[in-house]
Amino acid sequence: MSRIQALRGTRDILPDEVSYWQQIETVARDIFSKAAYREIRTPIFEQTDLFERSIGEATDVVGKEMYTFKDRGDRSLTLRPENTAGVVRAFIEHHLQAQGTPQRLWYLGPMFRYERPQKGRQRQFHQLGVEVLGSADPRADAEVIAIASDLLQTLGLTDLRFAVNSIGNLDDRNQYREALVTYLTPYKPELDADSQDRLTRNPLRILDSKEARTQEILCDAPNLLQYLSPESKTRFDRVQQLLSDLGIAHTIDPRLVRGLDYYTHTVFEIQSDALGAQATVCAGGRYDGLVQELGGEATAAVGWASGLERLTLLLQTLQPLLPSALDFYLISKGDRAEAQSLQLAQQLRHLGFAVELDVSGSAFGKQFKRADRSGAIACLVVGETEADNQTAQLKWLKSGEQEAIAQTDLSDQAERLRQQIAAHRA
Ligand code: ATP
Ligand code: MG
Repeated sequence: MSRIQALRGTRDILPDEVSYWQQIETVARDIFSKAAYREIRTPIFEQTDLFERSIGEATDVVGKEMYTFKDRGDRSLTLRPENTAGVVRAFIEHHLQAQGTPQRLWYLGPMFRYERPQKGRQRQFHQLGVEVLGSADPRADAEVIAIASDLLQTLGLTDLRFAVNSIGNLDDRNQYREALVTYLTPYKPELDADSQDRLTRNPLRILDSKEARTQEILCDAPNLLQYLSPESKTRFDRVQQLLSDLGIAHTIDPRLVRGLDYYTHTVFEIQSDALGAQATVCAGGRYDGLVQELGGEATAAVGWASGLERLTLLLQTLQPLLPSALDFYLISKGDRAEAQSLQLAQQLRHLGFAVELDVSGSAFGKQFKRADRSGAIACLVVGETEADNQTAQLKWLKSGEQEAIAQTDLSDQAERLRQQIAAHRA
């Protein structure tokens, strides 16, 4: 019989890898809560309209990448390709602005895009993201970038490039678009096929074409920054100043535009060289028009999303092995000893230790081998003698030192054991 396998572009995240995900989640939760960001969880599927209206029909995401289907009630649904649209919909639907603005939110979850799968690019992938809704202050732009920087730095990821740009307001952008199209039109036959198509549909996106000839042509193209109104320019200068004051090194990339239609003013990406073509680990920007576009009150907003698969790949190269969290491995042989070891395991767990109980019933030698492989700091052995006098042999696995401890009143010894384990771990 043919075996069923996971779908192309989806992956099982096996326990060894899950440790990295948990590490990212733990660090992220801590950083977000310290900055007063609260978690929001929105549905994985939404009305197709939500994404068409927010992300924009002319984008790759909406044009080529969405998982859209009819449900049994003949409604058009889409698996979310990103989560800003869902968060904004929830913000409007539940009148979150009434709870005071800005609302600082974060989320984590699976997203779906029909793409060509490769390293760091999947059809089901995961994003961690933040959104600040209800502030036009440049400090909000700098704050979200600073939080991304904290997250990456705390994870130990340092070789990163921060690229920022401003795409101005709608007026600035319309004028620039016209200038860009005027410049590019004579070169149309030389542009790559995608860019030719974008010349009418979404010309700004041509700026991030990866094709060499298109890039060459773009060298002399009009510069977006020169089309910023004085207000937009002042705003962008302020964001840059705030970032510099925070010690966040960044470069200005006038060709940085984002793939989704809803961005205004600040856009940014954080890139790593260690990921090949999938270099961007975090991307975001300001989207002052989106809340209104989706039927809410005019609400300035800024946010970012980071791809967890890419973060995990980076973490794995940095730390090929994660330390085990296990404190004790419990070994026993013989009926009474085996029953006692289960009790001992529970006692220790209730005292806060991480304990793995060997339930194989195999010879001591085999159990000791497994203890070594488990990554535990110590093992506790209960044999017949120990069972008779209600003790256990405590063996520190690194040094091989041993001592007998009483099975009862473990709570009296818990503090000492905790300290010794910490010392062995260090
Ligand atoms: P790319 O240019 O790599 O396709 P994008 O501009 O489409 O990225 P965004 O929509 O800004 O990406 O998503 C933010 C982040 O989510 C990306 O920087 C990346 O880390 C991650 N991401 C996006 N698409 C995928 C995917 N298909 N698989 C894995 N991660 C992804
Ligand atoms: Mg993409």
